[in-house]
Amino acid sequence: MKTNPEHGFGTRAIHAGQQPDPTTGAIITPIYQTSTFVQSSPGVIKGEYDYSRAANPTRDALQANLASLEGGRHALCYASGVAATGAVLHLCSAGDRVILCDDVYGGTNRLFHRVFAQLGIETVLVDMTRVENVRKAINEHTKLIWIETPTNPMLKVIDIEAVTGVARKHRITTCVDNTFASPYLQNPLRLGADIVCHSMTKYIGGHSDAIGGALVTSDDEIHQKLKFLQLSEGAVPGIFECFLYLRSTKTLHVRMERHCQNAQRVAEYLAAHAAIEKVIYPGLTSHPQHATAKKQMRGFGGMVTIYLKNGLEASRRMLERVQIFALAESLGGVESLIEHPAIMTHASVPPDQRARLGISDGLVRLSVGIEDVDDLIADLKQALA
Ligand SMILES: *Cc1c(COP(=O)(O)O)cnc(C)c1O
Repeated sequence: MKTNPEHGFGTRAIHAGQQPDPTTGAIITPIYQTSTFVQSSPGVIKGEYDYSRAANPTRDALQANLASLEGGRHALCYASGVAATGAVLHLCSAGDRVILCDDVYGGTNRLFHRVFAQLGIETVLVDMTRVENVRKAINEHTKLIWIETPTNPMLKVIDIEAVTGVARKHRITTCVDNTFASPYLQNPLRLGADIVCHSMTKYIGGHSDAIGGALVTSDDEIHQKLKFLQLSEGAVPGIFECFLYLRSTKTLHVRMERHCQNAQRVAEYLAAHAAIEKVIYPGLTSHPQHATAKKQMRGFGGMVTIYLKNGLEASRRMLERVQIFALAESLGGVESLIEHPAIMTHASVPPDQRARLGISDGLVRLSVGIEDVDDLIADLKQALA
């Protein structure tokens, strides 16, 4: 089926980028598990393909699917989310400044500060919930603004339209890490961003069984540069992974609806629990950027962050006692996960930066899955008893 941008999200999720296989009629895009393609005469290729690092039909189908879901013209896929992030950073040169939101994925923080800093790219951390902070951090060398929203693990919501508006005035490229929201809940290109970045490992994949990343843009010039970098640096995903992600996007809208419903119920339950000091969830009216979330997101996502009243002792006890929630890093899968950012996912963030952000010993992050929500709540209840 040929989809167009007017089709609804679910229709595009299932069909965009995919046609029945021309040789057999197979409804599902085959896994073109091949590194090379035969030529009839030197340089004469059948169709569009010569070598799978450059392009592969299964990867092309996934890229077309993701472009459609983000409302962009082009998508490129990578071996991981951080490989996609690195590709964007390679658009910068020595002497450039990058503005990064302060509460950013740990691996992104490490890549900016410990890898690209050595290449002479300066990173400035900014709390982007106030757009004035972004404006103040801009100087003549600023080349890129990197936004992540909602952030990890504090679930701050950044006004994408406001920040990209400022960037545009200064001709600065913007990239939004849209991993936590997924393309179903938020489309940053429609809010003025130049590039969208995903860790497909999380909600896009949704089954905790593959690592992958993606970039989407509608800017032809940026796309050409990124495509050249994808070919030159070679951090492409395996072909089987591309097949898994194509299978996953078909259910993204259904999964996200349930993640949002379950997370809202879990957040409301925990907010009323005596052992909990505070719940952070963009869907609660108590969230400081609830209005911004409502404006730019279709739903509030599956991530919930909580502070326990008795710090490390209480959080350790809860994390050891859960039965359905699994104690593990990562997020976005159908199964519920729970973790301790200070000890686990954010251990690589310097302690002073963690303290400034509020990543303390009583902080626990939940990735609410799509199990029956009454079972999830019963599990949390017994773990906190
Ligand atoms: C996991 C994650 C990444 C990195 O992705 P990988 O696939 O693990 O390389 C980047 N950004 C966010 C928000 C993430 O959660």
